[in-house]
Amino acid sequence: MSDSKQNSLLKAPAALIDIGVNLTSDRFHGKHSEIIEQALEANVLTQIVTGTSLSSSEEALKLCEQFPEQLRSTVGIHPHDASEFTSQTPMNLKDLLQHPLCVAVGETGLDFNRNFSTPQEQEKAFEAQLELAIEFQKPLFMHERDAFERQHEILKSYRDHIADGVIHCFTGSQKALFGYLDLDLYIGITGWVCDERRGTDLQELVHNIPADRLMIETDAPYLLPRNMDKKPKDRTNRPAFLPWVLKEMSQHMKLSELDLAHKTSDNARRFFRLPDSFSPANEVANDPVSDFYRL
Ligand SMILES: [Zn+2]
Repeated sequence: MSDSKQNSLLKAPAALIDIGVNLTSDRFHGKHSEIIEQALEANVLTQIVTGTSLSSSEEALKLCEQFPEQLRSTVGIHPHDASEFTSQTPMNLKDLLQHPLCVAVGETGLDFNRNFSTPQEQEKAFEAQLELAIEFQKPLFMHERDAFERQHEILKSYRDHIADGVIHCFTGSQKALFGYLDLDLYIGITGWVCDERRGTDLQELVHNIPADRLMIETDAPYLLPRNMDKKPKDRTNRPAFLPWVLKEMSQHMKLSELDLAHKTSDNARRFFRLPDSFSPANEVANDPVSDFYRL
C-alpha cells in the first residue's frame, strides 16, 4: 500500500456495509478491484451498488457477478432519468429484478430541485417502481430532494403493501425526517453530515433517528467526507471512506463507533436480506491501524 493511501485510510472498528455506491460511475472505470480491496482494508466489507438507469442497473449486476462476496445491487430508474421511462421499461426492469444479486428496487423517488425530468414524468416512474417493489416484495432504495410533501403523500398510499424502504442520502428538514420515520422507513446518511458548512442542520437532526432505522453510505464518487484528515488528490469519494461518516455520526448520535457500526450493519443486513455469510464477527480491537486512529 502506498503512503498516500495509508494516510487517508481510517479503519472501522467492526464490519460496515456501504448502502449506496455508484460503482458504475465513469470515475471508477477499470478500478473496481482496487476500490473493493481498499474498502476491505477499511473494514467496509459489503457494498450495495446503486442502479440509476436500465444500463447502469445491468452494469451493476455484472459487477456483482464479478465480486459476489462483496457486492449486491439495486435495480431502478433515478428521478433525473424518469423522462426515459416508457411503457416498455417495467418489463425490462422485471428481467433485472429477477437477478439473484439484486436486493432492492431503486434508485427511485422524486427530485423537484433540478427537475431534469418533469414532476409528472417523475411521479409516473416512481409509482411504476412502487408497483414493482410490491410485486417482487423487495425493499425500496429512494431518493428525494425538495419533494417531501408529494413523495410522502404517494408513499403513504402504498406503505401497507411495501416490504421496506430507505430514504437514501437524507438531507431534509425535521418535518421530513419525522414524516418518513412515521411511515416506518429507514434513513440513509452520507458524508453530507460531515460538512461543516451545509451539513449543520443535519448534524442537529440525526440524534432523532432511532438506531434501528439508521444506515450509512458514501454515495461515492460524490460527497467526499469533509472531516477526512487528509483528502485524496483526485477528490473522489470511495467506499473505503465510509468510516469517516461513521466517526461523524458517532459524535452526533452519542453512540460509540463500535456500537454504531454494529447497529447500522445489522440494519443493512436485515433490510437488504443479505446472506448470513455477510455477517462476519470481525472486530478489530487489536488491529494496529485502528488503534492508531483511536488515539
Ligand atoms: Zn440519490
